[in-house]
Amino acid sequence: MTITLKVSENTKQKMISYFEEKKRAKTPPYAIFQADEEDTVVTLYESGKAVFQGISADIDANMWMEMEKHLNPNAKIDRKDSSQKKEQKEILVDPKFYYATSIGSDEVGTGDYFGPIIVSAAYVKKEDISFLEELGVKDSKKLNDNKILEIVPKILKRIPYASIELTNQKYNESYKSDMNMNKIKAILHNKVLWELSHKYQEYDYIIVDQFAEKFVYYNYLKESTQIVRNITFLTKGESKSLAVACASLISRYLFVKKFELLQKNLGMVLPKGAGEQVDKIGKEIAEKYGFEKLHEIAKLNFKNTDKIKNM
Ligand code: MG
Repeated sequence: MTITLKVSENTKQKMISYFEEKKRAKTPPYAIFQADEEDTVVTLYESGKAVFQGISADIDANMWMEMEKHLNPNAKIDRKDSSQKKEQKEILVDPKFYYATSIGSDEVGTGDYFGPIIVSAAYVKKEDISFLEELGVKDSKKLNDNKILEIVPKILKRIPYASIELTNQKYNESYKSDMNMNKIKAILHNKVLWELSHKYQEYDYIIVDQFAEKFVYYNYLKESTQIVRNITFLTKGESKSLAVACASLISRYLFVKKFELLQKNLGMVLPKGAGEQVDKIGKEIAEKYGFEKLHEIAKLNFKNTDKIKNM
């Protein structure tokens, strides 16, 4: 259970003195302190936001809410409880896109410190829909790596696609001031879409799993000469278009393969994402192979790089 309570300056000061003896050695960014109160972890931020986490979070939150009311009788209480899991928003599938012949694209690796970025586009005809549904492609988000390794080879045999890999070396070279992650994505999506849409010209839609506003996307392509113009941008595209779902799965498949190879070459298990485990392993790699090794296997502009350096 997590409860967030906004407290006024006087309550904040009370909290600071109350938790003086209970605070942890480490303080999260922008926090004044983080402390343990029985089973509850209490974090107070400079903004006055107090976060209570744990099974008894409500008890502690209530206590400080009473304090806030007592000290500031006229202030409005600003409190959020997230004990219930957030209700899953229903994704509206538009049959117009779902049952069409389409080209779709999606990328993977942009949130992972280790490993390349892979962008793929897939060409899915109306006749392929039932084949893909039987494979479970519709719920591509829910498929784990093992399932992906099992079904994507079947997809590759039937569904035309185009993929591009941006290696870590190329990524690190291209990541200059005029580059950002979304620009890199736009350029790579445009490339695979251009390739596939020129090979397969009979389609109803070209669908991109949206990561930027349309005008921003095209702004990123200012310097490109071959630009795919007739794109439909859909958020949660992999749930709304089987072509995007296929592109997502193919990208993930190729990423998993690259990742496995990377691990084999390093003789290490690499974590995905960009969390603390990544920093730890990054440090081990730097110690074992030298810091330069990270140029070949990681995205250096991520914050993890500084954390690894400072470890
Ligand atoms: Mg995506």
